[in-house]
Amino acid sequence: MSDYPLIREKFGAYCVFNEPASGFTTYRAGGRAEVVVKPGSADEMVWLSAWCRSRGVPLTVLGRGSNILVSDNGLRGVTALTERLSGMDFSGDTAVAQAGALWDDVVRLSAERGLAGFERTSGIPGSVGGAVRMNAGAFGQETFDRLVSVEALDASGRVVSLEKKSIAYGYRSVAGLSGLIILSAKFKFGAGDSAALLEERSRVLSARAAKQPLNCPSAGSVFKRPPGDYASRLIDASGLKGLRIGGAEVSAKHAGFIVNSGGASAADIFALICEVRSRVKAATGVELELEQVLLGDF
Ligand SMILES: Cc1cc2nc3c(=O)[nH]c(=O)nc-3n(C[C@H](O)[C@H](O)[C@H](O)COP(=O)(O)OP(=O)(O)OC[C@H]3O[C@@H](n4cnc5c(N)ncnc54)[C@H](O)[C@@H]3O)c2cc1C
Repeated sequence: MSDYPLIREKFGAYCVFNEPASGFTTYRAGGRAEVVVKPGSADEMVWLSAWCRSRGVPLTVLGRGSNILVSDNGLRGVTALTERLSGMDFSGDTAVAQAGALWDDVVRLSAERGLAGFERTSGIPGSVGGAVRMNAGAFGQETFDRLVSVEALDASGRVVSLEKKSIAYGYRSVAGLSGLIILSAKFKFGAGDSAALLEERSRVLSARAAKQPLNCPSAGSVFKRPPGDYASRLIDASGLKGLRIGGAEVSAKHAGFIVNSGGASAADIFALICEVRSRVKAATGVELELEQVLLGDF
């Protein structure tokens, strides 16, 4: 167990061993993380990453676990959850948010201040770090639309500030941040009317509740939108709504989601992902690309 007791001493109750992934992922499935740590400051994250690097211990950094599937074999090394890094500071038409702040808090607070640009991303259940890392988005708006810069920890443990123009990014993928630990992000908004922005926010939240299986554990859309089409339309057209493997099920409400309908293993979910991909390819010729992140052995 290396000298994990040193981490335990440093983080106290914010360091737990052998933690099931059901406790830190929205799929509520997967194996156990060897050690889960919740750093309470950027300095603690720097310390933790240096500790891991100096001992060759793998470090996985997660936000709210709403876009990941953890293998049933679990996660080796240290898993850092950012939820305690939740500071947020609005100033004029900009905001700086720490990686663990809730994305939807940034969205709500900006709309309340009459700051436009993220209102249509209301209801995305991740953290700021996760939203930036995935370039999360919805209804024609995405994180990078309003991103100014990112403060991150690089592979050598240096804190670096990256301007948006120096970060390679695309649709639901940000190659330019691979291998970095995001500490905070700065956004710049457009001018808007708070009442109109909050009304748009309510419309989006209602649309989500009407279309998405929000009462079942899932990690949102499984696949990226293929050019000119929707993954959910192709899956539905291939007759796969309701298809099940073990406790994993293609949602009957939204075919783009796989839900854990009770006791699903990560293997069930992964097998269903593979089955859907191959059946959609056979029925429509389209090869769906995974949006969700697989962690551990698959
Ligand atoms: C019901 C539901 C609806 C959803 N709707 C949408 C939607 O409309 N649009 C959309 O884009 N997504 C959607 N998602 C997916 C998900 O919420 C987003 O991708 C979100 O941005 C992920 O944030 P997270 O904090 O949960 O990231 P996690 O799932 O914890 O992590 C995702 C990836 O980001 C990395 N990461 C997280 N934090 C950091 C950090 N600080 N530094 C470096 N890397 C980091 C992780 O290592 C991992 O690779 C939905 C999910 C659910 C469950």
